This record gives sequence, C-alpha cells and structure tokens, in this order.
Amino acid sequence: MSKRDYYEVLGVAKNASDEEIKKAYRKLAMKHHPDRNQGDTAVKAEENFKEAKEAYEMLSDAQKRAAYDQYGHAGVDPNRGMGGGEGYGGFAEAFGDIFGDMFSQGQGQGRGGRGGGRQVYRGNDLSYAMEITLEEAAKGKDAQIRIPSWDSCDTCHGSGAKPGTSAKTCTTCAGQGSVQMRQGFFSVQQTCPHCRGTGKIIPEPCTSCQGQGKVKHQKTLEVKIPAGIDDGMRIRSTGNGEPGTNGGPPGDLYIEIRIRKHDIFEREGDDLHCQVPVSFITAALGGEIEVPTLAGKAAIDIPEGTQAGKQFRLRGKGIKGIRASYPGDLYCHIVVETPVKLTEYQRKLLRELEESLQKGGGRHSPSGESWTDRLKKFFS
Ligand SMILES: [Zn+2]
Ligand SMILES: [Zn+2]
Repeated sequence: MSKRDYYEVLGVAKNASDEEIKKAYRKLAMKHHPDRNQGDTAVKAEENFKEAKEAYEMLSDAQKRAAYDQYGHAGVDPNRGMGGGEGYGGFAEAFGDIFGDMFSQGQGQGRGGRGGGRQVYRGNDLSYAMEITLEEAAKGKDAQIRIPSWDSCDTCHGSGAKPGTSAKTCTTCAGQGSVQMRQGFFSVQQTCPHCRGTGKIIPEPCTSCQGQGKVKHQKTLEVKIPAGIDDGMRIRSTGNGEPGTNGGPPGDLYIEIRIRKHDIFEREGDDLHCQVPVSFITAALGGEIEVPTLAGKAAIDIPEGTQAGKQFRLRGKGIKGIRASYPGDLYCHIVVETPVKLTEYQRKLLRELEESLQKGGGRHSPSGESWTDRLKKFFS
C-alpha cells in the first residue's frame, strides 16, 4: 500500500507553519476521537487517527520534517526512535498529550506511564447513568448519587498480605514490574505476567481484601447538573473513578445524562415541539387556543382557515442550552381533530354544511383545488 503524503494527510500546505500543523492535527484528532466513532466507524477512525498522528509527529519535528521534505517517506522512519517497540500508544495516551492544555484538571501520570521501575497505572474511569426529567434538564438540578469508593484495607494496612506475613519481591521481574521480551529484532518491554506489574508477589493474601490492599465502599457525591443539559451529555467528576495502581492517579467518574421521555414536549436541540389538537370548527373560524409551555400555560391566536400541520412558534419558550445566550423556541404543531360519535342531528348539520360548501366550488378548499388538478394530470 502506498503511503499518503504527510501534508496531504493533515490537509496543510508544504510551507505550513508549526501552528497550522498543530491546529490541523488537533482538528483531525477530535474528528476521529473514539467517543465520536463507535461501532462501524471505530476501526476506520483509529486508522485515520494513526495516520494523522504519524504525520504530525514527523512534521512537528523540524529535523524530521526537513528530511521528509528532501527525501519523502524514504527519509524518515516512523518506527525509529519510538523506543521499545511501543508503536501506537492508543487514543488515551495520544490524547493525554494533545489535550493536556484543554482539560487542565491534571491527570498526573498517563495510563501505563513508565516510572522507570514498577509500572504505574491510572485507575479506570467509571460511568454512572443518571435519568432526569425534561423540567430538571431545563432548570438544572443538585443531585446526590452513591458511587463506589475504595479505602486502604484496615486488616493489612494496604499491603494485601495476611497480617504476620509480607509481600515478596517478584523473582520473574526482580521487582521491576516489567520484563523484556524479544520479538525478532525488537526488544519489547511488557508488563510482568507473574506479578501483573506490581513487582510484588503476595504468598498469603489478606482475607479481608483478597490481597487487593483496598476495600470497596459506597460514598455520596454531590453533583451539580447544569441548566440546559441535553440527553447524552456527560459530566466529568475528576478523580472519582477507580484508584490507580502502584501510586498512579485515580480515574475519573463520568455521569451520563439521560432525559426521560416527556408526555407533551419533544426536545430538538434547544427547541421544543408539541402537538396541539384543535377542533375543525376552531381551525376554520380561528380563535384563541391554550398551549402548554415549560413555564406554564400560554395562549395563542390562530387565524381563521388554519390547516392541519401548521406550526406556531413561541419565541424563547424552549430551553436555554448550556452554552447558549438565548433560549430556544417552542413550536406548537396544529392537529385538526375530526369529530367522532356524532348524533343524528350533528350528522345532518354536517351534511348541510357540506352541501353549502360544494355550492362554493373549490374556493372553500385551498389544497383540494390543486389536488384535483394534479389528479387530472396524473390520470390523463
Ligand atoms: Zn487487606
Ligand atoms: Zn513480576
């Protein structure tokens, strides 16, 4: 497979500045972020991301860029200087670099960061699904949730070893937590399979914590749900995920918002929509009708001759989004109701009405007239 030109991959000119290159890469990295590419597009997104990452690594390094400009792909070897055959480090690591300044709440060491000796791991992120009503989403809410938390085990004081015994240095990796494996020409550093990176073996695990050194509890967390939040948005609570390993920082907790289906309103971005049934008499004669809004009742005047499906907009009666300066609108969709369970008398009135309308020809039915024309054309 022939390799694409690095400038082409990033979509920048040959004389692009470092800043332009960084900006282009950032845009691509966002586009191919795993959060936005799940299911079918995930594999393709990862490939695109790898391609962009490689192009960025080459072009952001003045020396490599010069070599690439002179000799093309032959002048640079993306696998050189990556150390230990580490290769593609996955989204998490790469994003740790590029978004470091965007998410300033520091995450300390990245996942699997190499601290020279034992491997330090950041704890896993946790996610918590929270269902709220549309009204709560519009106004915001202070919620309390119960989440797992971990404390150092009292019995073994966090060592994981049964009292009276102690952990021993792992002999496979000599306490390093990682081992060198040879794969062809490469020497690859891997997590020690014996101690799983801790550098220690516990011959007799503590029975209170099964050798984990920590015990799981529940704790209450106060969560502020901002007004305007929408379905599918996530709130990050830094450091409230699982604890890290070997002194690594904890992961984060993500609260995923689900908005319950509302009886009346449907939300579309910051706008709300609702269906308002109107009798065909009112639709024909016009009049004031009452419509619901999130803030209470409102009245709108509908003109005479209002057709089914007509929508009326109530400005600012939607939802004010988290970052919006103005609230959205409320759209009331008119549903003209056909009367049912008619008495003989009512039927008679309607037949008389029909007769009278027919005498007026097409002028009483605005869409009927063009409909008749279209039918004629269709059958001719
Ligand atoms: Zn214990
Ligand atoms: Zn080991």
